[in-house]
Amino acid sequence: LIEARGVHKTYANGVVALADVSLSVARGEVICIVGPSGSGKSTLLRTLNALEPISAGEIRVLGEAVHDRHTDLNRLRARVGMVFQSFNLFPHRTVLENLMLAPRIVGGLSEAEAEARARALLDKVGLAGKHDQYPSQLSGGQQQRVAIARALAMNPQIMLFDEPTSALDPEKVGEVLDVMKALAAEGMTMCVVTHEMGFARAVASRVVFMDAGRICHVDAPERFFNGAGHPRLEAFLGQVL
Ligand code: ATP
Ligand code: MG
Repeated sequence: LIEARGVHKTYANGVVALADVSLSVARGEVICIVGPSGSGKSTLLRTLNALEPISAGEIRVLGEAVHDRHTDLNRLRARVGMVFQSFNLFPHRTVLENLMLAPRIVGGLSEAEAEARARALLDKVGLAGKHDQYPSQLSGGQQQRVAIARALAMNPQIMLFDEPTSALDPEKVGEVLDVMKALAAEGMTMCVVTHEMGFARAVASRVVFMDAGRICHVDAPERFFNGAGHPRLEAFLGQVL
């Protein structure tokens, strides 16, 4: 579903964030992306739905050339859900309204359809009783589960997560990872930038190690976490495990 070929990204300030990155992701795969700070993980994720332009290379997502100026980005982004470290909910809208907005406006659903879908998704992320609350009335873990439900409300075929648990208190991390595990078990195609090595080990189809703008190593989790004879990966794992 995702095909990145020879992607380069240089920011306006001259920083080379991605250097010759290639990655393919098949339907139903869960790809975990790990690596040191500044290695280009967020940049890579953001180029996949054109939140960030690229300097060279090609990215196809769901058959569409993401960085072709003729591609309908609104249509593409409706099919690729994204969840960030900061939850980015609309603060002056209730939980239910947060979930109904995009399906109503972008998806063209009726009020009743959007509400039924929103309630089903809240149930799925374990927040059925919270529909009338405002984001500020929820814990970080609850807000992030609402953010996941909101991304799912457009029925995406791919979900991108950028450190979805990094802003959470440690005791709230598990509830968000559980929602993501359930999503993976349903067969959702996912790319997850994370520092949660336990999650990567348990859920990933493949783990991608990025360093200095490059994909240095890709492997199945059981081999990946043995270091697979790769010195820089072993050094990184030595720091995080
Ligand atoms: P972290 O783990 O800290 O989130 P990351 O792996 O997600 O790091 P990126 O945010 O993709 O790394 O950044 C890659 C490189 O690009 C870094 O050197 C960063 O300073 C630089 N960079 C990121 N965003 C911008 C920007 N908008 N303008 C200029 N440089 C940027
Ligand atoms: Mg990042």
